[in-house]
Amino acid sequence: MTSANAAWIARDLAHVWHPCTQMKDHEQLPPVPIRRGRGAWLEDFEGKRYLDAVSSWWVNLFGHAEPRINAAVRAQLEQLEQVILAGFTHEPVIALSEELTRLAPPGLTRCFYADNGSSAVEVAVKMSFHYWRNTGHPGKRRFITLANSYHGETLGALAVGNVQLYKEIYQPLLMDVITVPSPDCFARAPGQDWADYSRAQFVHMERALEQHAHEVSAVIVEPLVQCAGGMRMYDPVYLSLLRAACDRHRVHLIADEIAVGFGRTGTLFACEQAGITPDFMCLSKGLTAGYLPLSAVLTTESVYAAFYDDYVKLNAFLHSHSFTGNPIACAAARASLALFGEDDVLTKNQALAAHMGARARELAAHPHVAEVRQRGMIVALELVRDKASGTPYPWQERRGLRIYRHALARGVLLRPVGPVVYFMPPYVVTPAEIDLMVEVAREGIDLATCD
Ligand SMILES: *Cc1c(COP(=O)(O)O)cnc(C)c1O
Repeated sequence: MTSANAAWIARDLAHVWHPCTQMKDHEQLPPVPIRRGRGAWLEDFEGKRYLDAVSSWWVNLFGHAEPRINAAVRAQLEQLEQVILAGFTHEPVIALSEELTRLAPPGLTRCFYADNGSSAVEVAVKMSFHYWRNTGHPGKRRFITLANSYHGETLGALAVGNVQLYKEIYQPLLMDVITVPSPDCFARAPGQDWADYSRAQFVHMERALEQHAHEVSAVIVEPLVQCAGGMRMYDPVYLSLLRAACDRHRVHLIADEIAVGFGRTGTLFACEQAGITPDFMCLSKGLTAGYLPLSAVLTTESVYAAFYDDYVKLNAFLHSHSFTGNPIACAAARASLALFGEDDVLTKNQALAAHMGARARELAAHPHVAEVRQRGMIVALELVRDKASGTPYPWQERRGLRIYRHALARGVLLRPVGPVVYFMPPYVVTPAEIDLMVEVAREGIDLATCD
């Protein structure tokens, strides 16, 4: 008799093509079929449980099957599941837009919706270019991006990103961008202050702007943490300098807060830590607390005004997606935002973040841990082959995969990005669960670095 899990795995492998996966790997390690989720835990068809230390790919904020979000989704389902958002509107999208513009950095008063993060990036890129065209600067059509940045997988989003593993093959299909070195503080000199390093790295951006501003539409960045690039972090001073320089050079600033938004870095939005307002802010992932696909691009009155005209001038932003502003997704998003207030989440997260950081830093002395870094509720450990010289492990050795496998066996979902082990748990995680996830990471690192 095959086990309950095995039956699902066989059916899955017959037809499902999984994302970000070499399907042949499943010969060795089959996908884990999940039957249900409760709080920070996932459960398979045989009752084995997994602590979701990566928030189901950084989307989940308040655990699985959160009762208040469930109730909001159910209630909305009884009212309206979907309606066209062109020419029509509905309560959840109106209320969500009011709420987002109230919470966002000051000046972001307009919300445009899409249904996933990459599409939000496409919207911001197109809108920025189109703004300059509408205002008489059609030559501003290039984008400046940071090395090691990630903005999604559709062609425009891939073009403005810089993770070679995802990008290289498709390069012939992509628009040409200007890439400048990252303020990523992993590269700083021993003992060098984060702010000093990030500030010093700004010379590259300043130079690129001086040289190219006349042909540049926008600079796009992931504020504070380059997540898919290995949870590489930098100091808020870089964002302050960038805001000022973009103003000086008349170039837009696109803040891709798709991963870092909604409290991950300690503040509701990462931009707050630099006190800046971007021209475009992209949101997705945690926007619906990880319930449903939805994304939003917030922008300013002045951008909005550049598109507001008589129809025949053809200045409108005609971009659309079928499920733009889906009512059920918007209802989940509203319920999620309400929880931030009801449960005083950001304050409570400070204690969780302190605990998570303290426990993780116990691994800093490990002979193969080059750095333990943290920004709010994101903690990452960078593995290297040789700590003294900083020599990385060859990627072909897939050390992170060994940690992933060990953690699964121990009932924890850790999914290292290359040689970077990280924790990005839902905010309902307990100190004891944090202890478990750090302990399992320690065992996994020992196993993965013993040869
Ligand atoms: C995940 C992510 C995206 C893409 O979002 P999808 O919903 O996966 O398309 C874009 N930018 C950042 C910073 C991300 O982390």
